[in-house]
Amino acid sequence: MRTRVFSGARPSGRQHIGNYLGAIQNYVALQDEYDCVYCVVDIHALISMEDTSHLQDNIREMLLDWLAAGLDPKKSILFVQSHVPEVMELHTLLGMLTPLSWLLRVPTFKEKAKLQPENINYGLVGYPVLMAADIILYKAEAIPVGEDQLPHIELTREIVRRFNGRFGDTFLEPRAKLTEFPLVVGLDGKDKMGKSADNSIEIAATPEETLERIMTAVTDPARRYRNDLGHPEVCNVYALHKYFSPSQVDDIAEQCRTAKIGCVECKELLAERINAALAPFRERRAALAAQPKYIAGVLADGADRARAIARETLCEAKKNMGLL
Ligand code: SF4
Repeated sequence: MRTRVFSGARPSGRQHIGNYLGAIQNYVALQDEYDCVYCVVDIHALISMEDTSHLQDNIREMLLDWLAAGLDPKKSILFVQSHVPEVMELHTLLGMLTPLSWLLRVPTFKEKAKLQPENINYGLVGYPVLMAADIILYKAEAIPVGEDQLPHIELTREIVRRFNGRFGDTFLEPRAKLTEFPLVVGLDGKDKMGKSADNSIEIAATPEETLERIMTAVTDPARRYRNDLGHPEVCNVYALHKYFSPSQVDDIAEQCRTAKIGCVECKELLAERINAALAPFRERRAALAAQPKYIAGVLADGADRARAIARETLCEAKKNMGLL
């Protein structure tokens, strides 16, 4: 029996290089060592989403990126959260034993409440309970998270301890599998790469679109003219070269510092490297996109496999709670 890993990601549509270097590559690597359950958390997305007209497209685009990047439905369970309704039932049951004070002290609740002061809905407060339900429903033991997610995992463990203490051993106490997600800075050179900040490069972009996006990247502000000496350590084009041109970074840094290379040339080289690295991915993605029924089939199969685990867990929980 391999350790089961669970991870959920909001349906954010086409993925960008930040997602790819952070979550997706890690998801792919984990498949060889763990029994992985990867979920598109569409219900979580509703907490801040009022217009759902693009939701299905976003799920499909994200799945295409995941599959083309190497997530394998034969190795991992890939499914959509709402396709396994047992999670909503478990969420309600867990809500009956989770003190409100535990939820109000979660740091991300306070941060998110500030971001959407007009829409502090129940889902925002209850988000960690739904997350706990996601994890324990599938009997996941290891949860790959960054440090910012640690309070959620600790809360899940507290909920599990309270449930098991009250109704007998039912759920596994999951542990955080602390993962260092590289912080990929966006093309604006300021914020983390993200769709809403409009500072990202989609991994499924064409080579021409990739070049066009990179040409907009902010570089070393001190390098105003071609002959100005550069400071690669403050330049996010250079930061991306570290991922995509690992054997050339020292050379690029030296050429930048001595003004032997200009920013336009440096950006063209980066686009070339990114396009070369992503060419096989883009080819696979185009082939998958040409089979519209394939994604639906993967998700249906994933939901069936996830639901088989979920039904059993929920039944055990309800029995122990005296509901059956
Ligand atoms: S030459 Fe390259 S590393 Fe140097 S500032 Fe320009 S884009 Fe950045």
